[in-house]
Amino acid sequence: MSRVLQGDRFNRTKWGGRMMGLARQVSTWSSCPPGRQHACVLAEDGRFVISTGYNGPLPGDSKCHCTGMPTEYCKANCKAVHAEVNALRNMPQGHMISRPLVAYVTKRPCQACFQALFDGGVDELCFAETDGTLVFVLVASPHLQFTPTPGWKE
Ligand SMILES: [Zn+2]
Ligand SMILES: [Zn+2]
Repeated sequence: MSRVLQGDRFNRTKWGGRMMGLARQVSTWSSCPPGRQHACVLAEDGRFVISTGYNGPLPGDSKCHCTGMPTEYCKANCKAVHAEVNALRNMPQGHMISRPLVAYVTKRPCQACFQALFDGGVDELCFAETDGTLVFVLVASPHLQFTPTPGWKE
């Protein structure tokens, strides 16, 4: 199964910068140590925020085990649900989504999250490389692959 994006209605340079700024702000809500804090903003038509998520504990698990712990502890013991999965969980139900649904993520997602984004109906992904460069890719299959959005240039 694959999906095809139609049109290129939103300015990716402009909205990528704006939404990544928002995602970076949301990432500070995570109780994982700095450098391990990540967030995902889901935006309809690439521009209208419909949900946010950050890496954090499971529902009912009031406290993250990483709170106040060093980065190495988090790397080895983190039980946080990834930001992408939390953002998908926070999406309103029964809402007609204006496409493309774009996920803005503060880092390159893992395979499991990429698949979750695909399964959740996300059309396009924008993530920040470690040097801060933004990359837009299509989410056209459940397999992690970074196919640049056609027509998108820095
Ligand atoms: Zn952690
Ligand atoms: Zn992940």
